[in-house]
Amino acid sequence: RTVYVNGQYVPESEASISVFDRGFLFADGIYEVTAVLNGRLMDFEGHVARLHRSLNELNMHLTLNDNALRDIHRQLIEKNDLQEGLVYLQVTRGVADRDFAYPDASTPVTLVAFTQQKAIIDSPLAERGLRVISLPDMRWGRRDIKTVQLLYPSMAKMEAKKRGADDAWLVESGLVTEASSSNAWIVDHDNTLITRELSRSLLHGITRRAVMQLARQHDMKVEERGFTIKEAQNAREAFVTSATSLVYPVISIDQRSVGDGTPGDIAKALRRLYIEAGLSVSSS
Ligand code: PMP
Repeated sequence: RTVYVNGQYVPESEASISVFDRGFLFADGIYEVTAVLNGRLMDFEGHVARLHRSLNELNMHLTLNDNALRDIHRQLIEKNDLQEGLVYLQVTRGVADRDFAYPDASTPVTLVAFTQQKAIIDSPLAERGLRVISLPDMRWGRRDIKTVQLLYPSMAKMEAKKRGADDAWLVESGLVTEASSSNAWIVDHDNTLITRELSRSLLHGITRRAVMQLARQHDMKVEERGFTIKEAQNAREAFVTSATSLVYPVISIDQRSVGDGTPGDIAKALRRLYIEAGLSVSSS
């Protein structure tokens, strides 16, 4: 695989990062994951906009402009002959002696990007649907910043696996914030889509926004509010959204079937619409 590190495209075996990189020592870095369908980037503008937001919130400065970022993505797709999968981009605060205080603002950031192959359209999990468990949301208070500090989501996924489930929905003050690496949705018995309102408590998903737009274009009602695990278990449908899963139906929560325990029609329809929209884009 060819990867990108600080301005250069190199074989992954030759890529290197300093031991003193703040991403490594402090998880002082942010990232984006953009899906690739048919060799093309999905929702790239949204991912770049969120990248800037994360950088701003953490006072990090990137000298590359958006065209350069897009070019890195495209070159990696081309060099790795990627048809379907993702491009991962990470920016950290760079290399400095270990100290909690940020280094001088002139310290160059570290920029790394790579591709990963993944079957996105023909996904077995999309066919079968996810079984999820609920867990307390024990992450930090700025989940709207897409940092590389992902240990709790990893722990949550491992706990889900240990219990024979696929993923975890995280709960804070009685309400679902989101899933460990995707946004959580339910569909009520009037076919209204419900997902939590944006705040610092959850990541502002790019797929969440795209699916919300698609739903409204197709005259579905969308409500942004929190919901309990109990409401979700009693909902007509449940699903999650993220860049690389697109839309995955959820078929059970804490071992209680949602609806009839099979992927819901609305989740399946939204998944299909989103894929169609992605494949018909010719500009990215
Ligand atoms: N929430 C969390 C915690 C995530 O990690 C992700 C995916 N990175 C999402 C939501 C979904 O965001 P997006 O649709 O932009 O991939």
